[in-house]
Amino acid sequence: MSAVVSGRPHPFAHISFPMIGVIANESQHQVIREFFELFKTPWEFFRRDGHYDVVLCAGSEVVENSSAKLVLVYGGRELPFDTAPGRPGRSNRNGLRMFVAESMRIPIYGDSVTFSPGPSRSAVLMDAESQQPAAYLEVRANGPVLVRIGYDLFKEVAFLLTEGQPIETAGIPSLDRHISFLRGLIVRQGIPLIEIPPVPHGYRFIACLTHDVDHASIRFHRFDHTMLGFLYRAVAGSTWATLRGRQSTRALLSNWAAVLKLPFVLLGLLPDFWNQFEAYRSLEGGGVRSSFFVIPFKNCCGTKEGEAPPKKRASAYAAADVAREIRHLVADGHEIGLHGIDAWHDNRMARQELNEISHVSGTEIAGVRMHWLYFDSESAALLDGLGFDYDSTLGYDETVGYRSGTSQVYRPVGAERLLELPLHIMDTALFFPAFLNLSFAEARRVVGRIIDHAAQYGGVVTINWHDRSLAPERLWRDFYVDLLEELRSSGAWLANARDTVLWFRKRRAVAFDDVDWANKVSQDGIEPGSNLPGMDVRFHNMPHPIVPEHAEARTCQLQFKTR
Ligand SMILES: [Zn+2]
Repeated sequence: MSAVVSGRPHPFAHISFPMIGVIANESQHQVIREFFELFKTPWEFFRRDGHYDVVLCAGSEVVENSSAKLVLVYGGRELPFDTAPGRPGRSNRNGLRMFVAESMRIPIYGDSVTFSPGPSRSAVLMDAESQQPAAYLEVRANGPVLVRIGYDLFKEVAFLLTEGQPIETAGIPSLDRHISFLRGLIVRQGIPLIEIPPVPHGYRFIACLTHDVDHASIRFHRFDHTMLGFLYRAVAGSTWATLRGRQSTRALLSNWAAVLKLPFVLLGLLPDFWNQFEAYRSLEGGGVRSSFFVIPFKNCCGTKEGEAPPKKRASAYAAADVAREIRHLVADGHEIGLHGIDAWHDNRMARQELNEISHVSGTEIAGVRMHWLYFDSESAALLDGLGFDYDSTLGYDETVGYRSGTSQVYRPVGAERLLELPLHIMDTALFFPAFLNLSFAEARRVVGRIIDHAAQYGGVVTINWHDRSLAPERLWRDFYVDLLEELRSSGAWLANARDTVLWFRKRRAVAFDDVDWANKVSQDGIEPGSNLPGMDVRFHNMPHPIVPEHAEARTCQLQFKTR
């Protein structure tokens, strides 16, 4: 795909964009390709005859005497490079360590090295605990500026994209911070850099709205554990929460009223208050068409490692029981996805589950999220093989944040086409007593940090608000309404999972080798033949004014079109 950058360009024939040359072991090539899909800046594997402003060394080989302006040496263990005369002493470690650049904390999970401080070197990264430099910069009279960084960048990225972060560091977008730190090292040296930020044109980030449909209707739950749980929480739990000031009296009265109405709901004389499809359609409004992940088969708890998971994993409804609602949602432009039971590990069941949801919804199914977030290291490849466009399972049950360390959609290891839409915020994690157990005010602060990160760096905030969460006894409707308002006012493009993934696919398809300049400025930023926003291209330290009106700016951002 080639690209046209809009704006009125300076009349020069050609700009060559500086490239990063990367030296690394073959075994890391796949993860490096993925890292640069997320950074989205020109790069290539180092060639002896190549011309680079920046050389990034991630293996044992270090090219110190290149024509580059900056040589970055990443490595979590002592390298032959470190033993040259005049290089500082080192101290090795493995296991979790917190490095800090300015006020940005970056957790390091693998091997790491710190260095003894010295007068001729400036520290650019510190170990929070020992206060030793974890990266230092060395300016030399002849030759490039050298920066030695005491961890292995691509091993860290591989860890984040496979194992994922433990819940203690869930709140830190570590992978995004690795990108920020690297960008900062380059830009602070005055080196020009071009990138396509993960930001849809005209917005600051994407807010992806999804709903796991676990219950669909209270009428499916006659005297089972779900209904008994509802009664207990609506009466005793709710009273206790109100007495402690954690819930309003109005909410308490709503819950009691729901309990009193329940017999009439079960008899079909009053509307089913757990059927919230219509409520979501009206409260999201404004052209937003969120995604609903629907369970294919009822009374089926699946299997895990040859054993049956707890019985309560089984759903009391099947997609066919809510076929009418599903068809309504589809007709209205909403997305229906699979809420998988065994699809994460069993090829035959995955196909059956997929076929069932396609059949009931009458549409092609692009995406899947597993019920109870079941997943293993083989799941991505399995789903890829079945033709799923994306998975959105990788998040936390018990907390919110960045399991894969990123706010970006990425390609998981083992998949050729499938993309992973990471899950960041789940209502049950925020409010269940067994999980974070937050008040609305506390939850707003926690969620606010995730929104702030996206507003600053772009990417997506993926939200899962369960189908029954608007209703008694959860009553998390007001929080959700405020959250939508905050997302809108923070500059989010509100999209469903399918469109979010399509936007990232479009960005991945851009190559930098054929950027043209055109005298066109698109007015609305929407690409022809698509309802997706366009992309921007961001320039740092440009050598010439790219566009005369940006002549004074060191960083400028222009709209970018693909053709
Ligand atoms: Zn579920």
